[in-house]
Amino acid sequence: MGIKYSNKINKIRTFALSLIFVGFIVMYGGIFFRSSVWLMTIFMLLGLLCIVASTGVYFWIGMLSTKAVQVTCPTCQKQTKMLGRVDMCMYCNEPLTLDQSLEGKQFDEKYNRKKQKES
Ligand SMILES: [Zn+2]
Repeated sequence: MGIKYSNKINKIRTFALSLIFVGFIVMYGGIFFRSSVWLMTIFMLLGLLCIVASTGVYFWIGMLSTKAVQVTCPTCQKQTKMLGRVDMCMYCNEPLTLDQSLEGKQFDEKYNRKKQKES
């Protein structure tokens, strides 16, 4: 198959976590520009911005989680949350769908998007 899908909420959570790391790395990078107060300030602000953004993303996950549908995964029997018409189980990556017409079809994330293309 090649393409690895994962649960959307988990994916966003990973993104938020990596934003924090990027923020710290950028802030740390500012140390190398100590000679220039301006450059250091810009790095510090950029790093801070990443961390603030990740807080926003975490908040967004919280909002999404309340809207997510809780289902019991038929494969691992665990409670998982799904977003959209198709999503993957958080634990075993089993493709799940709420749409009866898509049941049994090959999993494809594009079922979630009708018009926009993946960027
Ligand atoms: Zn599962």
